Amino acid sequence: MTKVLIVGGGHAGANTAFALRKDGFDGEIIIISDEGYLPYHRPPLSKDFLKQNLAVEKMSFKSADFYEEQKISINLDTQINSIDLTSNHAITEDASFNFDYLVFATGAAPRLLPMENADSKNLFYLRQITDVLSMHQQITPHKEIVLIGGGYIGLEVASAMIELGLKVTILEAEERILQRVTSPEVSQFYNDYHSKKGVRIVCNAKVTNLNAENQMINSVSLESGESLAADIVLVGIGAIPNTQLAASIGLECDNGIKTDQYCRTSIPNILAVGDCTSSFNSLYNKEFRLESVPNALAQSKVASSSILGNELFNNEMPWFWSDQYDLKLQMAGLSSGYDECHIIGDTDSAEFIACYGKEGYLIALDSVNQSRQFMLFKKALGNGFKLEMSLIKDKNFQPESIFSGSN
Ligand SMILES: Cc1cc2nc3c(=O)[nH]c(=O)nc-3n(C[C@H](O)[C@H](O)[C@H](O)COP(=O)(O)OP(=O)(O)OC[C@H]3O[C@@H](n4cnc5c(N)ncnc54)[C@H](O)[C@@H]3O)c2cc1C
Repeated sequence: MTKVLIVGGGHAGANTAFALRKDGFDGEIIIISDEGYLPYHRPPLSKDFLKQNLAVEKMSFKSADFYEEQKISINLDTQINSIDLTSNHAITEDASFNFDYLVFATGAAPRLLPMENADSKNLFYLRQITDVLSMHQQITPHKEIVLIGGGYIGLEVASAMIELGLKVTILEAEERILQRVTSPEVSQFYNDYHSKKGVRIVCNAKVTNLNAENQMINSVSLESGESLAADIVLVGIGAIPNTQLAASIGLECDNGIKTDQYCRTSIPNILAVGDCTSSFNSLYNKEFRLESVPNALAQSKVASSSILGNELFNNEMPWFWSDQYDLKLQMAGLSSGYDECHIIGDTDSAEFIACYGKEGYLIALDSVNQSRQFMLFKKALGNGFKLEMSLIKDKNFQPESIFSGSN
């Protein structure tokens, strides 16, 4: 019987198992996860689960019964430490698992702050359920929380903490928050929105010291000379793909395990999916790494298809969402290299779409509280439609017309 071993039980790993069963694979499926929980939804870690609006049992994709019914074997609290390619075995501290196909779904880990006292008991990173459970013990109203990093995680945590009554400061090393992922217009909108909610945002902030006593940080010093009181510190400065295991068996890694559009690595029976990959995308005709649930889901279907000898390939339009306060941000496409930004709607009413154009055509968009219109644009981009920016900039333009052909 063919055996598929999946290393990692996150969105990509678990969904590869589900896709295999859905596609009719009747061999053995084993998931190895170094976490102690059944595969669960990661996005709520910085949203509802952080706010304690969601019980831990509600985080799981599926119940234990489901895995049993589907004959998907899950080994929790188990880490694969090495792989023996001569015998096709993956090895843990006290066991080994043989395989016909191996799928790397090892995800990413938070980038650590390389600084003295970064191991203090009130400094947190956000990646796993256990991170949030430890943080919950310290969250009480009126405490001062300092968030290092003004990316999605920092901003989502800021929104949750404001709702829970804490005093929030965001320290961003760059000139503006969200600098790596969006335009100055959208950064400004989020900067203003958070500020109105009471968040203090300090840009160009270089942290020089975490000042601690008895392993508890009490203040954070900046290069500017300012010192900020801190009861809790959360670091959200990006994530690094978990590629060490793949690299140890000679797989090529460059900001992710390199795969072709079929999620295959350079070793025929080894595939890779999700945050840990730098994968070839046929829609863009290039390889890149994404950190998003839709990417993990799309790649898991592709990996299943490849194992079964079918032809599905990775041509998914990159997209992502972020929830802060009452704002739903949805982004689609790759905006890097855009040469114009046109806003449809009104930033003052928090309902708008920022359209990014390059050489006259739409390449990406950021939508705030405009889900229905966002879906139309996303579908158009995903289907390879070439939408002229001049059309989008026309004041009579209606996104609905993209598919009705009335423009
Ligand atoms: C706080 C937070 C909020 C997010 N919000 C959003 C959002 O709003 N929208 C969105 O689209 N995306 C969001 N993301 C990103 C999204 O969660 C990831 O893109 C997604 O989880 C990737 O799935 P994955 O399976 O590739 O990796 P992961 O979900 O990280 O799973 C990898 C698993 O493999 C395990 N593992 C690693 N090495 C080994 C080993 N050697 N042996 C056994 N197990 C191993 C890891 O511990 C982990 O459990 C968020 C991420 C975080 C952290």
